[in-house]
Amino acid sequence: MVGRLSSLRGQDGAVALLRRYFETGNVPAGLLFHGEEGTGKEKAAVAFLAALLCRDRKEDGACGECPDCRLLSSGAHPNLLRVEPENHFIQIADIRGLKEELSLKAFSDRPRGVLVCPADRMTLQAANALLKTLEEPPPATHLLLVAHRLSWLPPTIVSRCQKIPFRTMPAETVEDILGELPEAGKRRSKAALRAAAACSGGSPGRALLLLDEMEKSRETWAGLFTRPDPAAVFATSDGWRKSEAQEGQAAVPLAIVRDLALLSSGENADIINEDLRDVLCAIAPRKTPQEWTRAFRTLLTMSRLPPQAQKRLALEAFLFDLHGKD
Ligand SMILES: [Zn+2]
Repeated sequence: MVGRLSSLRGQDGAVALLRRYFETGNVPAGLLFHGEEGTGKEKAAVAFLAALLCRDRKEDGACGECPDCRLLSSGAHPNLLRVEPENHFIQIADIRGLKEELSLKAFSDRPRGVLVCPADRMTLQAANALLKTLEEPPPATHLLLVAHRLSWLPPTIVSRCQKIPFRTMPAETVEDILGELPEAGKRRSKAALRAAAACSGGSPGRALLLLDEMEKSRETWAGLFTRPDPAAVFATSDGWRKSEAQEGQAAVPLAIVRDLALLSSGENADIINEDLRDVLCAIAPRKTPQEWTRAFRTLLTMSRLPPQAQKRLALEAFLFDLHGKD
């Protein structure tokens, strides 16, 4: 199935830029899709290449039905070349292989597209080798580079390409996108989607990866708030000590405490962890709304500490204190 440009959610700026190239009939030889991982860059690059190869291009990209679209869908279009890392890096031999292929006559009269993904995995030698192709591309050949970190690419490569920036998105947009994905929306609770979206840093791809981990983490934390189980407390606090300052690590307990504060004030509130409502309703009356709000602030401060022994102790003290006042 060949993707449409309109299927890219939350990236209106990038889509407008890409459409403009087709409208003006002036498609650059070098395009650099850059931005956070999981924001749709590769999907956009593939949709753009499909539109480039299609014989009956529509306003929204490839038609999906012409012989070229069918070839592309089958993964066997001879005019589409992919360069991907083997053993983590794209080596100079990979770029030499690409150049050799490009030096041959194209199979069909369609333009040729090269997808280098992720381009920030090129070694310096590989990047230098590719630079020459970017400077003097073969006729009707377009190089699409996909990079998660622009700073990992040599400035000479960056300056040779037209840049297509991909933005991170508001949590609500990420949640909506997750909800529409068959592997997420249909199988997960709304609360899990919302929590993963809140911790994703605005990247639907990352939210999808977080879903499994977070589902487990939510159960653990709901348990920790319910009963003072020292073994569970120590296991969790040890995790906090070891992990590097992980974005989103504190998001699960923070969301739970936020819900507890809302529920303890008797509000029939719009809580994040809706599927845990019964569990949380049982815990909420143990403290006043002010105490829960204070707990939220303590947890937030703690989550910002660097990973170290002190952080572990702070979390243990917090959890035992939570139950000590029951
Ligand atoms: Zn087509």
